[in-house]
Amino acid sequence: QKGKYPERFAFYNLELEHNLRRKMTLNEALKGALERDEFRLVYQPIVDATGQIVSFEALMRWRYQEQEISPVEFIPLMEQSGRIVQVGSWVLEEACKTLAKMHKTNAEICMCVNISLIQFYDKGFVNNVNRVIERYAIPGHLLHLEVTESLFQSEQMMINEKVSQLQQCGVKFSVDDFGTGYSSLSVIQNMNIDYIKIDRSFIQHIEQKGLSIVQAMMNMSNSLNFSVIAEGVETEKQRQLLEKCGIPYMQGYYFSRPLERANAFAYLSTAIAE
Ligand code: C2E
Ligand code: CA
Ligand code: CA
Ligand code: CA
Repeated sequence: QKGKYPERFAFYNLELEHNLRRKMTLNEALKGALERDEFRLVYQPIVDATGQIVSFEALMRWRYQEQEISPVEFIPLMEQSGRIVQVGSWVLEEACKTLAKMHKTNAEICMCVNISLIQFYDKGFVNNVNRVIERYAIPGHLLHLEVTESLFQSEQMMINEKVSQLQQCGVKFSVDDFGTGYSSLSVIQNMNIDYIKIDRSFIQHIEQKGLSIVQAMMNMSNSLNFSVIAEGVETEKQRQLLEKCGIPYMQGYYFSRPLERANAFAYLSTAIAE
């Protein structure tokens, strides 16, 4: 009896220590990752009800010592260190560079870029976006910024101000992972949002109780005047149910996995040829 606790405690300690060490190592490695060219973007198609591509979502990848580290692990680390501001601005630039090139052959293709709250709160953010749009001569409405619900929970005046400044240049806003946060409808209602992205968890369960929730979100979008994208569509069955609900845009492995840059261009050119 007596010996049990210290043992478990020691084990727990080891695991904690392991996690802590990994965090410290990754943090250290993240410091120079941008300079060492270890980051890249991949692009996942978003399609309309007919299956035609309408936009890409840019997703970050980090190759460190021959291994791909998930953004689920490294984005929070960069948010904690504040490094996300600089790296996020690189992401924006890189995505817009790709968008500008795509725009030449496919005039209406859009680019969705994930924006961390830390990055959005940064003083230089609005200017940063403006500068990039100008530098690459991109029509503002082709750039969609994805933010999470939690953005709208505090400092609503400042948020509203920034959102509308950016919307003046045409930039669109999407609420990412919609339905997973705590923000009430009233908050979203007061924001001038262009799209919500229904979180994958609802799509996964759409054959059970997810359907009524998705329908409710769809009804809401009609009355509140924003459009809807379903995330994480993996099967034909899910696609059919979403179509029945009238969901206008979908994204997920069923249509395409995220693509390396060159493959995204190839995808786009075959989509035009069809
Ligand atoms: P997210 O913004 O919700 O992105 C969607 C995630 O779902 C991506 O994971 C994508 O690869 C994955 N996904 C897409 N379709 C499917 C599907 O059908 N099934 C399944 N199981 N997964 C699917 P990824 O690329 O690992 O990114 C994870 C998260 O990391 C993103 O979630 C986003 O929150 C964050 N992230 C990625 N790139 C960036 C970035 O450049 N900036 C910021 N701030 N965050 C980023
Ligand atoms: Ca996203
Ligand atoms: Ca999402
Ligand atoms: Ca997510």
